[in-house]
Amino acid sequence: MSAHFKKLALIGIGLIGSSIALAARRQGLVEVISIATRRQETLDEARELNLGDIYTLDAAEAVRGADLVILCAPVGAYAALAEAIAPALEPGAIVSDVGSVKEHVVKVVGPHVPAGVHFIPGHPIAGTEHSGPSAGFAELFAGRWCVLTPTAGVPQAATDRLVGFWQAMGSMVECMDAAHHDMVLAITSHIPHLIAYNIVGTVADLEADTKSEVIKFSASGFRDFTRIAASDPVMWRDVFLTNRDAVLEMLGRFNEDLSRLQRAVRTGDGPALEALFTRTRAIRRSIINAGQETAAADFGRPHEQPPTPEPTPVRDHGGGDDA
Ligand code: NAP
Repeated sequence: MSAHFKKLALIGIGLIGSSIALAARRQGLVEVISIATRRQETLDEARELNLGDIYTLDAAEAVRGADLVILCAPVGAYAALAEAIAPALEPGAIVSDVGSVKEHVVKVVGPHVPAGVHFIPGHPIAGTEHSGPSAGFAELFAGRWCVLTPTAGVPQAATDRLVGFWQAMGSMVECMDAAHHDMVLAITSHIPHLIAYNIVGTVADLEADTKSEVIKFSASGFRDFTRIAASDPVMWRDVFLTNRDAVLEMLGRFNEDLSRLQRAVRTGDGPALEALFTRTRAIRRSIINAGQETAAADFGRPHEQPPTPEPTPVRDHGGGDDA
């Protein structure tokens, strides 16, 4: 089954859209890439970066003649975009997306997809906290999972073609039910982001003195939360608005476990704390063994050298280390 497409239309050209453009071009998967976005300045930036061949602010124009259309905008924009592109979709085309939630996408995009067009929602489980066309890179999907949630009636051949497209960009692909995807992602991605937004928000509300010390000594765990909490506000607003049920279900479980942990701390239950921390360490190891992370610190990402801090007077903070 050929993973090659004649014309790929990317609606939205931020981190994910630009990474698809670069990866698809590098792997020779498409002849023509047409790009649509909302704002002229983003379109100009995409053109300067040479991400495609056709640039337009009109999503319907972008999809005309395309045999693969991928929505790469925030999920909250999908309903209006689907309505706008529907009349211009080619019979036989595949319409997909990259949104971080899937049931909502099926609900708001599905009804606009004309008969004869194959709707296969998708979600590459790959990303960074950076946004915009210049944030993309061709290797983003390499070794990462991409979940596809084919809708009823989609021919297997169309799904196989899209699977081949993602595999050629380096992804491992799994097909599943949209509701199952949303439940799994609620706990693996959405709740961790909620926790990061919350803890960084708590620090933001601390009085100035304490806040400056948290920032100064941020290597002790807080820094990794700030990376997650720097993720795009619009994208994450949409995730929590559109995956509400699964997030609330998982948050309920999380709160129960947190209460148990709170009790262990209060009662000084060392064995319970140690048993949990031993189990969680094993999970980290299994993620590394599965090739989804390296053992290096800081999420395995290369970092610029941090600036040398200004020398500050030594103060006693009660000891302790980086734990
Ligand atoms: P991004 O870097 O912020 O880019 C979003 C793009 O969508 C921009 O080109 C933006 O255009 C465009 N856009 C926004 N509103 C639009 C509208 N109403 N109509 C048309 N275009 C619009 O976002 P991203 O990180 O690539 O995320 C895009 C999608 O990927 C989201 O659905 C997200 O859930 C999913 N995703 C993200 C990640 C991640 O880690 N970032 C991972 C997996 C999946 P303008 O600049 O012109 O407004």
